[in-house]
Amino acid sequence: MKIQFLGTGSAFSMKNYHPNLLIEEEGKRLLIDAGGDVRFALRDIGLSSNDVDSVYITHLHSDHIGGMEYIAFTTYFNPNREKPTLYCHKILVEDLWSHSLKGGLQSVQGKVLNIYDYFNVNALNHNGFFQWQGIEFHLRSSIHVYNGFSTIPTFGLIMHSKTGKKIFLTSDTQFTPDHLKESYNFADIIIEDCETSPFRSEVHAHYDDLRTLPAEIKSKMLLWHYQDNVVDNFDEWQAKAQADGFKGFIKKGEIFEA
Ligand SMILES: [Zn+2]
Ligand SMILES: [Zn+2]
Repeated sequence: MKIQFLGTGSAFSMKNYHPNLLIEEEGKRLLIDAGGDVRFALRDIGLSSNDVDSVYITHLHSDHIGGMEYIAFTTYFNPNREKPTLYCHKILVEDLWSHSLKGGLQSVQGKVLNIYDYFNVNALNHNGFFQWQGIEFHLRSSIHVYNGFSTIPTFGLIMHSKTGKKIFLTSDTQFTPDHLKESYNFADIIIEDCETSPFRSEVHAHYDDLRTLPAEIKSKMLLWHYQDNVVDNFDEWQAKAQADGFKGFIKKGEIFEA
């Protein structure tokens, strides 16, 4: 299983791409989140939407779904390919379509379409999982935003590679070590949301908070979804992260085999 980080930046980065991952196994490709700049990120590694077989969506911010109109239209109008499969938690399907994609995708010449015309939708349950190319992907929810009335979750994943490695992608999450403890302990590698801005958004785990985690968890942690201050001084931040006990920051384009 090859994991390539198409981007490792935060939502409004000008020097990185959105924090989307491309999983490759036996010639098939699964995109984990499709942010607004995903077409450029794919182009940079010689690919396009036509090379993507399936997409998994963690939540509905534009750095995770802003490229879905691109994926939908370009694959729909390609007569030589099947619809991509869309995996996501069942509570996201209706909002993804009605609140985000419908405005642009509902109408094509002579037809009114819906999400099922563009994707083979595989809606997943709480604590659900899906299998793709023999790899198991188990959903793990995180707390991303509390708006004063309700909590907006994200759906991270624990990926079980065929070689027995367990990789935990937190997706966007607040710093909630009690909530994530079980997954942190279970995983061999943790891909962790890490805000590095001096101005806290409160909806992402901040570097200064992550530093307080136990050493055995930090040593498994790869940091991603960071601001451009890390891009500007990557070597300095990397040295600091490793001195603080983290496995380190991930760079755009980096590839891991698991
Ligand atoms: Zn988000
Ligand atoms: Zn994000």
